[in-house]
Amino acid sequence: MKFDDYHISPKIKESLQELGFKKPTDIQFKAIKPILLGEDVLAIAQTGTGKTAAFAIPVLDILEKAAVIRKARGIQVLVMVPTHELAIQIADVFKSIGKYSSAKIMALHGSTDQEPQIAKLKKGVDILVATPGRLFDLRSQGYVELDYLKILILDEADHMLDLGFIKDIEDIIRYLPKHRQTLFFSATINPVIKKLAYSLVKNAIRIQI
Ligand code: AMP
Repeated sequence: MKFDDYHISPKIKESLQELGFKKPTDIQFKAIKPILLGEDVLAIAQTGTGKTAAFAIPVLDILEKAAVIRKARGIQVLVMVPTHELAIQIADVFKSIGKYSSAKIMALHGSTDQEPQIAKLKKGVDILVATPGRLFDLRSQGYVELDYLKILILDEADHMLDLGFIKDIEDIIRYLPKHRQTLFFSATINPVIKKLAYSLVKNAIRIQI
């Protein structure tokens, strides 16, 4: 199976071609179709497997097809990640795969000035890739509108728990619409991660590679 064979927007196929992505990796092969169908996904996949594109490709396609970009109020997709570096890295993957899409993508993380971040949020963001602390802070100040969220993604959930973000994650999730698609990615699995996962996903497709 090649990316050409997928029913995804030509805009996304073009950027994949430019990136030199011809065929899906194992995790992409297993995750892209269920995500496109609106399923919740619980995936155990390590860095280096192509896990970021496994959610970025279908999520960008969903936004493209729903034609909600820019017309929508508030954030459509929230990706929660453990570190600044990962927030930037994942936002960059969304930006490169979404090069021909008009989705506005932003990385939001702590240890940097809030003012430029607030200005950017005010202009409108479709896909927000955020660390839990700063996200919680700016949401509390009223700068992050999550009432219209369609898709929640947790990436490196195990790492987020290791860093003690469980309370922030739970606090944020209380403000998200119940009716949403949730994608849960973790490199490892144990009973604590499983408990968090199953409190978030519904009838999830489980993928382990
Ligand atoms: P990740 O696991 O998301 O950190 O991705 C690992 C690396 O694989 C990144 O450098 C990606 O650019 C690359 N990659 C992801 N998907 C593909 C693909 N389908 N074909 C070739 N390279 C890919």
